[in-house]
This record gives sequence, structure tokens and C-alpha cells, in this order.
Amino acid sequence: MYKTIEDEVLKKTAPAAMKAEFLQHEFDRLHKFCVLIYIASIAVWITYDLVLSFVGNQSFTWRSVMFVGVFTILVIILLFTRDARHFQKLNLLFIFTIALGTRLLIEGVSEDHQPAWLLLAASTTLFTASVLPLNRWAFFAAQLITWAFLNPFYDTGIETQALGGVMALSYTTFICALTIYSFLTLRKAKLYNFIMSKLLLDQAYIDTLTEIPNRRSFMTRADKQLHATPREHDHYLAMIDIDNFKKVNDVYGHDIGDEVLKRIAQDIKAVMSHHEYARLGGEEFAIYLAGVRREEVEVLAGELCRVVREQSTQHPVTISIGLARVLDDDTLNQALVKADAALYESKHTGKDRFTFHHQA
Ligand code: GH3
Ligand code: MG
Ligand code: MG
Repeated sequence: MYKTIEDEVLKKTAPAAMKAEFLQHEFDRLHKFCVLIYIASIAVWITYDLVLSFVGNQSFTWRSVMFVGVFTILVIILLFTRDARHFQKLNLLFIFTIALGTRLLIEGVSEDHQPAWLLLAASTTLFTASVLPLNRWAFFAAQLITWAFLNPFYDTGIETQALGGVMALSYTTFICALTIYSFLTLRKAKLYNFIMSKLLLDQAYIDTLTEIPNRRSFMTRADKQLHATPREHDHYLAMIDIDNFKKVNDVYGHDIGDEVLKRIAQDIKAVMSHHEYARLGGEEFAIYLAGVRREEVEVLAGELCRVVREQSTQHPVTISIGLARVLDDDTLNQALVKADAALYESKHTGKDRFTFHHQA
């Protein structure tokens, strides 16, 4: 089954909105990792700067202090960055400064060694960039910036025709191809995994007929609301059942019954859009209303009954609603039992109405 769905997913190209959602998701998960990578890169840079300053007898200058200052500012900005799109730009700025700083450091070693150090620095930067949560343009821009500043052929006296030059060129090509290939392949694999999990989650938590959340989704989300503290105002639970629905099926057929279910689901979605609603199963729905006053619940329940009743349709129906206030020590199941008892009362006092559960 997994393979079948996976093949379906792999056949399609991911829409732009999905890619953006994936990028944000990746960035959220890897935020700490990005901070760590930045700090590690800066630590490596400072170490080499100190080695060159003291072992290489090139004194630690104001330039070093300035670079450390800029790096620190960029890390602080990263700590507060929460939008993946902003990270794409921030990362380019970081690569720009670290590559420039590294180039200036490498200019301090003897000319013979410069191309090798530049290649080492460029490959480390690109490998690191290939595991960061970047989109394609940001990764290719990182490649450009890296090679612009850490180009082993620029101002190093290297002969492109000589052995050293040919070797450096081969390695540059190899590192470029390897990092681009691994970035694109990993990114695609992670993107498709993301799409797969989203699809499977949707199928597990959305009711196929009405396309609103199902019982599993409701139990999870309502339970989360129920345990949320501190509680602002009261919480209420509503159980909804369509009146005389068997008759709809008997008279018009099961397909029309299904259409009615979809219509009621849309009515619930329209009226209760700010609350957790779901189809629990059959022709029963539930709504969890968090942070509401009793008067608001009355207005919403009355509105829902009215909207369903007054639909201009060939197959009119009505609904009954049972409401229970969720007490602080109630479990979700206890609240559902109370709302069900109130629903029973609505059914037995004429249907097409809402009733509040009376505490015994
Ligand atoms: P009441 O007013 O007391 O609720 O009467 P009712 O006829 O609605 O009785 P009940 O709630 O027990 O009816 C449930 C019916 O809902 C039985 C079943 O045929 C129908 N039903 C359950 N699931 C579906 C579904 O997915 N599609 C259709 N078309 N009908 C369904
Ligand atoms: Mg029923
Ligand atoms: Mg019914």
C-alpha cells in the first residue's frame, strides 16, 4: 500500500505552496542545528585566525574583531529568525561574510599553499550549505558566492595549464557536482517524504465523505483543548444528530443521504469555523467550543439549527443538538456522555432544537 501511494506521489510535481510549507517545516525542525552550524563555523574561523595571528606572527587586527562582531550579529539575528524565507537571505549574508573572512585569512599563508586551503574552505562551506534547510536558488547562490570568494584560481599565481592547476580544476568540478547532486537528491527525498506523511495524515484524520475532520482528529484536538491551561471562559461540547435521517435514506436513497451529510458538514463548518468540529461517524457530528460564554453557545447552536432548517433544497432536514459544559475535572468521554444525554433530550422534546445538559 505504501509503495502504491508513494508511486502516485512520485509521479506528480510538488506545487509551490507545498514546497514552501516543506521549507518552513524543515527550518522549524533544524533551527537549532543551523545555529550550531553557524557557531561551529565561527569557532573554526576564529581558531584559524588565532593560529595565523600568533603562530604565523600576523598580529590579531581590528579586522578580526570586526568580522567576529558581524558573525555575532548574524547569529543573534538567526536566533530570532522564524521565517524560512528570511533564513534563505540571512544564510547568503553569512556565507558572504565567512567566505570573505576566510579569503582574507588564507591570504596570510604562503602563496604555494593558498589554492589547496581555498579548495578545502570552499568544499567545507558547500558541504555544510548542502545540509541546511535551503531552497534551490539559495543553494545555487551559495555556490556562486563561495566560488567568487574562495576561487583557487583568482590571485594565487596558480598556472591553469600546469599540474597544480589541472588538479585544482578537477577537484573544483568534482566538489561542485557532488554537492549539487547530493543537495538536490536529498532535498527531493525529504520533500517527497513530507508530502507522503501529509497525505497519509490527511487520510487518517479527514472524513472521506464529508471532507471535514473525523473522530480520530476530534478526539486528539478536543482533548488538547480540554487540557489546555489556563482556561479562558468555559468550554462546551456539542453533539449533533440529523433528525429522521433513516427516512431520507429510505425515501430518496442512500446517495441523496450522502449528499445531505455533506451539506450538513458544510453548514457546521460555516457556522462553527472558529471551533473544533468533526463527523464522529454515521450521521453524528461533534463540536468542541473552547473559551466561550453560555450565551455565545446558545447563539451558535440556534444559528446552526436555523441554517440547516432553512436551506433551500429538495431534501430538507433538521438537526438536534445536545450541549454540555465541560467541567474542569471532566474527561472528554465524560463530556461526550453528558452531551449525548442532552441530545437525547432534544430528540424527545420534539427535535430541531438544542438542549443543555443539566447537572444532576
Ligand atoms: P433520529 O431523529 O432519532 O436521529 O432518527 P434517525 O432516523 O436519524 O435515526 P438514527 O440517528 O439512528 O439514524 C441513523 C441512520 O443514519 C442509519 C443509517 O442508515 C444512516 N447512516 C449512517 N451513516 C450513513 C452514511 O454514511 N450515509 C448514509 N446515506 N446514511 C448513513
Ligand atoms: Mg444517529
Ligand atoms: Mg438521526
